[in-house]
Amino acid sequence: MYKMAVSLPETLNMNELPVKKLKLNVPSLNEINEVILPELSKNFETVSIEIVQCPDLTQPPFYLAAEGLSGNENIIDVGSPSYLLPLVNRNKVYNFKDLKQVTGSDPIFIIGAGAGPWPYSGVNCELAGNVYSSCNNVINGTRLVKVNPKNKSYILEKLPTNETRFALLANYYSSNGLKGDVLRIVCEKRIGSLDFVTSIRQALSKFYGNQAVGLGGVILMENGKVNVHVMPDFSKTPINSDDDLNKWLNFFEIPTPLVGLGYLVSHDPGLDLRPQHFHLFSEHGAGGHYHYDTQPATIKYTAYLNLAKNLYRVDQPIDGVSFGKD
Ligand SMILES: [Zn+2]
Repeated sequence: MYKMAVSLPETLNMNELPVKKLKLNVPSLNEINEVILPELSKNFETVSIEIVQCPDLTQPPFYLAAEGLSGNENIIDVGSPSYLLPLVNRNKVYNFKDLKQVTGSDPIFIIGAGAGPWPYSGVNCELAGNVYSSCNNVINGTRLVKVNPKNKSYILEKLPTNETRFALLANYYSSNGLKGDVLRIVCEKRIGSLDFVTSIRQALSKFYGNQAVGLGGVILMENGKVNVHVMPDFSKTPINSDDDLNKWLNFFEIPTPLVGLGYLVSHDPGLDLRPQHFHLFSEHGAGGHYHYDTQPATIKYTAYLNLAKNLYRVDQPIDGVSFGKD
């Protein structure tokens, strides 16, 4: 008796995938400050927003692959939850390096939330993407978070440098990784019902209406705990509703400090966009998909965010799903 070798999918060729480009509304960072301050102040007791030179993000506590968030700033929405639900499409495997040709950035620094390269990890998993790629150099600080099937706890691991694939869906902020001005938003003690990311997105959405504004970058979470989910391996039975999805996902309350990577966009002009998506990692083994903080009395957020100039929609499905985007 011998087993047939299971053939793994090739990485999809970016040249053959549909790509749509949307020019985003790019107000000044000062204007963004004025627009988001009232909404954040409704949800947090202490709010401070400044425009600062980006700190060196390669340093602790961030450990990112490049220093800053500036130069050819873009948002990239790849794939869709509809490649995961109701059942997985195993052909949807992409590569960070190919996103250079989508945005025209070289070097390119990509951070954000996606599904991990299951052909590498053996199982479906969360991905906190963190890749810098220049003509002859790749720095890969990407982390995966997966579920340990034995005890249903989570496992975080760093990808090897040469593993630059991801799968199914991803929501990235990309730039040349250069230092430059960014928004520094510090919020402490949550007093309202909206989480940090939703507060900012809803404020932008109300003010700018159908003129889509996109922000991406890094969020440090401290002094509390955070509710996250981690996807287990692919479901063998179809997931047809939010209810099915929430039964399938594994939810955890994880300790800070945590670093979140991703973007938010204020309006979807019919591109089946994910409005916001941040994945968390840490140096203490915890991570996952950010939902909200669970200790509002002590929680502290420090975000460094920059405005994106364009949004690229890569491999948009013909039929989107109506759930699975929280
Ligand atoms: Zn996620």
